[in-house]
Amino acid sequence: MSLAGKTAVITGSNSGIGLGVAWELARAGADVVLNSFTDRDEDHALAEEISKETGTKARYIKADMSKGDECRALIEQAGACDILVNNAGIQHVAPIPEFPVEKWDAIIAINLSSAFHTTAAALPMMRSAGWGRVVNIASAHGLTASPYKSAYIAAKHGVVGLTKTTALETAEEPITANAICPGYVLTPLVEAQIPDTMKEYDMSREDVIKNVMLKRQPSKEFATVEQMGGTCVFLCSDAAAQITGTTISVDGGWTAL
Ligand code: NAD
Repeated sequence: MSLAGKTAVITGSNSGIGLGVAWELARAGADVVLNSFTDRDEDHALAEEISKETGTKARYIKADMSKGDECRALIEQAGACDILVNNAGIQHVAPIPEFPVEKWDAIIAINLSSAFHTTAAALPMMRSAGWGRVVNIASAHGLTASPYKSAYIAAKHGVVGLTKTTALETAEEPITANAICPGYVLTPLVEAQIPDTMKEYDMSREDVIKNVMLKRQPSKEFATVEQMGGTCVFLCSDAAAQITGTTISVDGGWTAL
């Protein structure tokens, strides 16, 4: 399946899953717009590298996904948005009574409200193009819960709900909306936690990965950013044209438990 001629906007894509998704969409032929809230040379260099390697057009646009007007401006500045991947996200861990209000507000804004704003700005573009795909990166925590992650879990369940509503509002059009629910994915963020956890539990790297990080992931293997990208490419394919309003778990069996 070639995505040549399509433009994909991926929020929060200067690292981790978002960057992996951008690479796979570009490898499938789409022009991609990378995004984060910074405006560094290395952010723009990521887009240049994708263009050079894949021969597609890649750009980096700075926009802060905690601000509704910047979410909408990102889509406007992109100029086209056939594929929207809502991926930007942050995490904070604390029991509810101690959960800092500013962290709650930031997580709801970045992980949930940003997807509402970008979707609102992108749907008219998809409608005039006569084709569109919304892919929301939710989480296994969009379907199940864990203690101490109240804001993240509320936001990710909200993303799944928003996905279903987006699908129903576009059901009779050639537009689909789905959520990918990853389990633990080996991103630089996760990799960076391994040495500290090894020290904390006095465990080997292998034991930390198997018995601490992947305790709830039956496959005992991390999912990869390439697998997230590949799932996105599938959701953009003709084979997925009747898949809408649903979630696809890429979680090594987590939600089967
Ligand atoms: P990451 O920290 O590598 O990526 C997060 C991205 O969001 C970064 O590019 C960051 O710059 C961006 N971002 C953060 N705040 C932003 C803001 N205000 N405006 C714009 N961009 C902002 O982490 P990741 O693991 O790649 O996570 C990506 C998404 O996948 C998140 O929504 C996360 O909840 C979800 N997810 C990750 C895992 C995992 O195990 N890594 C599992 C399930 C779901």
